[in-house]
Amino acid sequence: MTDPLNHSYYAATAHERRPCSDVRGDARCDVAVIGGGFTGLSAALACAERGFSVILVEAGFVGFGASGRNGGQLIPGLRWTASELEEEFGRERTDALFDLCWRDNRVMARIAKHGIKCDLKAGHLEAAWTPRDFDAMRREADYLAARFGYKSEIVEKADMAAHIATPLYHGGIYDPQGGHFHPLNYAVGLALAAEKAGVDIRESHRAYQIEQATDSPRVITDWSEIDARYVIDATDSWIGQVEPDLGRYTVPIMNYNIATAPLPNADALLPSDAAVADSRFVLNYFRLSADKRLIFGGGERYSQTPPRDIAAFVRPFMAQVFPQIADAPIDYGWGGAVAVTMNRLPHIGRRGNVFFAHGFSGHGALVTTLAGELIAEAMAGTAERFDVLASLPSKPFPGGKWLRQPLATLGLLYYAMKDRLG
Ligand SMILES: Cc1cc2nc3c(=O)[nH]c(=O)nc-3n(C[C@H](O)[C@H](O)[C@H](O)COP(=O)(O)OP(=O)(O)OC[C@H]3O[C@@H](n4cnc5c(N)ncnc54)[C@H](O)[C@@H]3O)c2cc1C
Repeated sequence: MTDPLNHSYYAATAHERRPCSDVRGDARCDVAVIGGGFTGLSAALACAERGFSVILVEAGFVGFGASGRNGGQLIPGLRWTASELEEEFGRERTDALFDLCWRDNRVMARIAKHGIKCDLKAGHLEAAWTPRDFDAMRREADYLAARFGYKSEIVEKADMAAHIATPLYHGGIYDPQGGHFHPLNYAVGLALAAEKAGVDIRESHRAYQIEQATDSPRVITDWSEIDARYVIDATDSWIGQVEPDLGRYTVPIMNYNIATAPLPNADALLPSDAAVADSRFVLNYFRLSADKRLIFGGGERYSQTPPRDIAAFVRPFMAQVFPQIADAPIDYGWGGAVAVTMNRLPHIGRRGNVFFAHGFSGHGALVTTLAGELIAEAMAGTAERFDVLASLPSKPFPGGKWLRQPLATLGLLYYAMKDRLG
């Protein structure tokens, strides 16, 4: 499967891995995983570690989807702040969510355990677009410190130059527990670890359907029928193609990234080498690659058709933040679909023996690995931690198959317009 949107810096610098598309034919296993992104790979690896036999089918190649194309920003937590979670769900549930989504960094654990080489760097900065955003960030940082003893640093506007060479932002929060990485190489590292643990990864294998007629579900792919005790649907933006009912819970929003040529002044642009995301609804997010390129994401498009020239589409957002490199050469431009839920919290659960996790709403680089591991844990009989995530509420988008995307787009355009009006 090729995709013109995958002309990415990541694809160009991915570690070698022998592609696995030659194994065909019907099979039987304990767990069939559909999707070779962070969620599916993490689940497959964790299941194999628990002694399950696992087959993973991936329509393209490992990391083909959002996992191999994202901004690489590792941001602890969820799209909601911890205080928003507490207001909505109360103290006890927030404690449990905080332990999982802020404290239990499974990505760092996997990188350390398997020695995954993926340019991991520590430090994430959230930059305030307006003074009001900065006030809200400051309140949240104080709340996190008082309530959970969570350490982050409030950066006043006057001190922002230690992190970022632009006067655009009104202050920020630096989180040393956050960071950034090369997402495709992390996915490749997970795949290699999964294969070593015994997972049979079948690339270029598209699943069409999950048959649930008996206790034992069957995955129908274009090359085989796989009978399993459990199925994990980890197809994120594509989930509606396998399970139309689950497809009602997310809409895919296209988001674009560029990588400049290596920049002689890279360290001056981001002196602390933190990843940065700003507080706009349609946010700008950026960081340096290991070879000193600026990787910049900005601008969402509510049409599924990509811009003809991705570099030209993203460049103005980069130039607004960093006018000093407005004309820098851009070597790569790519995009991907962000699966967004109605409330921007992930939708995780099980239906009979089929588990699913999708809709991480642009905040999936950390939580997907966790979700995969919690699915394996639940399968092995301990569901408490899985239930913490599975109990997050989720509603389908209104509008049915044809109106869902346009209605969701209207809502998103409203917030994007509020951004522009300040
Ligand atoms: C441009 C962009 C930037 C982002 N930036 C960030 C960021 O900086 N930080 C952050 O936290 N999050 C970010 N995200 C979100 C994050 O990347 C996702 O939440 C996360 O990667 C989702 O992982 P996943 O494994 O669930 O899905 P995916 O990585 O999309 O994997 C799903 C896989 O399923 C496969 N598949 C689909 N259908 C089938 C089928 N029928 N049969 C077999 N296989 C199938 C696909 O080929 C794909 O490989 C970004 C997303 C995008 C698109």
